[in-house]
Amino acid sequence: MSDTPQFSTAEYPPQQIERCGLCGTPLASEYYRVHGRTACAGCASAAQNGQANGQKNTAFTRALLFGIGAAAVGLVGYAAFTIATSFYIGYVALGVGYIVARAMKFGSGGFGGRPFQIVAVILTYLAIALAEIPIALWEFRTRIPAGRMLVVGIRLLPVGLTSPIREMRDPIHGLINLVILFVGLRIAWRGTAAPSANVEGPFRPKPAAS
Ligand SMILES: [Zn+2]
Repeated sequence: MSDTPQFSTAEYPPQQIERCGLCGTPLASEYYRVHGRTACAGCASAAQNGQANGQKNTAFTRALLFGIGAAAVGLVGYAAFTIATSFYIGYVALGVGYIVARAMKFGSGGFGGRPFQIVAVILTYLAIALAEIPIALWEFRTRIPAGRMLVVGIRLLPVGLTSPIREMRDPIHGLINLVILFVGLRIAWRGTAAPSANVEGPFRPKPAAS
């Protein structure tokens, strides 16, 4: 039975310098566990607040960049889907909210929280609302001189930004799309919430065997 692990006699390497699994700081007298990873007191309390100590700005910047990329993909996808299918109902809004949130979570390395949520909702709204611009350009493409597409597109910015509200001119269609938009924004909001902190500790390291 030599294969059986001998937990009671398991040996820990003496003098092993334990480092925080999140920020790399050598651990002092006590340590914590955050999502199962050894962490310093600073990272543990930051995790409880849904933020990464020292990584917060980087995480947010990366989440923002990934979110903008996903929103651009969502905008193109939303417009392409609507043009290709002439689909009346904007269900794609749900997918846009989802990919923006997933991309931001990926970019932040899993961190979230209120600022992330606000950005996710804004990006999702922009992607869906501004998708109306390429849709409109496509619809009226025969009446717009080829070289003027960009200029007309820029001129349509205010129209695009307010398109979800403008759609209320057709109350039933507009309301359905507004509800779907709201659900899509909610998906983005919830998908970038702070993860529920799983913080244990403090623990005191075993005294190193001499
Ligand atoms: Zn740390």
